[in-house]
Amino acid sequence: MPTEIPGIHHVTAVGSDPGRNLAFYTETLGLRLVKRSINQDDVSVYHLFYADHEGTPGTSMTFFPYPGARSGRVGTGQVSTTAFTIPIDAVGYWTERLSAEGADVDEPRERFGDTVVPFRDPDGLPLELVATADAPPANQPDGPVPEEHAIRGFFGVRLSLQSAGPTVDLLRTMGYEETAGESEHDRRRFEASSDLGAVVDVLEQPQAPRGQPGAGTVHHVAFRVEDDEQEAWREVFQDQGLRPTEIIDRKWFRSVYVREHGGVLFEFATKSPGYTVDEDVAELGKRLVLPEWLEDRRGEIEAGLPDLS
Ligand code: ZN
Repeated sequence: MPTEIPGIHHVTAVGSDPGRNLAFYTETLGLRLVKRSINQDDVSVYHLFYADHEGTPGTSMTFFPYPGARSGRVGTGQVSTTAFTIPIDAVGYWTERLSAEGADVDEPRERFGDTVVPFRDPDGLPLELVATADAPPANQPDGPVPEEHAIRGFFGVRLSLQSAGPTVDLLRTMGYEETAGESEHDRRRFEASSDLGAVVDVLEQPQAPRGQPGAGTVHHVAFRVEDDEQEAWREVFQDQGLRPTEIIDRKWFRSVYVREHGGVLFEFATKSPGYTVDEDVAELGKRLVLPEWLEDRRGEIEAGLPDLS
């Protein structure tokens, strides 16, 4: 068996207005734009990557913002909530900040012993801040949020499923263990071993409608894998009756995608070479980065992209 999965690599979602998306994730949430690229399947659409200062795997939320995109519906067969970690004493700071910025934010609540602040991004994408005593160190030195309160990266994701059993088996195969203690309502918690993006909550909702893709929904969740173990993981998934893709070179990481039994699209991405393979840390996100095979179309592509301001 390959090495256990330590946690999330990135989460990719669909948005609408790209300028509004950029402002919310960088100015309101204080993440750094670490990569400004395009959707390789539709070069008139940006692919924007937000993360910590260095683009560390486990901190990176990415978006395809389609101008004028129709809203999707969050439902089963999807990642229904994406959660970030904040320090345990930062709850007051964040509830005030999100309210002051006009974000759609709920009152804090307790879950599995942690304080959780639920909110939505401007497209309605469900997000949470989870305050934990063992939040990893901050790495957001130049952001608008004081570093003592800064988002530390992913806490985890929640999967909404019509039937949870086969997905739970897959999570166990990936190395996730169910958290001891009672489940809360229909929610069960599974954890990996790292301190970044280690939590997967599973919510079984047999009566809930299926999710529909569109703005305000997650497209896929990617997990971190060792560079030389992707092929071994592909064989594990095939043995479980799943149909993984070939290994795809995404320039900043290599990826295998697999639609798991509950309908959620999982990706398994390598930690290297990382977002600094084509830009220095100081320069991350400043210019449009294109794959080599699109460089000779740069002028035309730049002219076709919407204004980001
Ligand atoms: Zn991805």
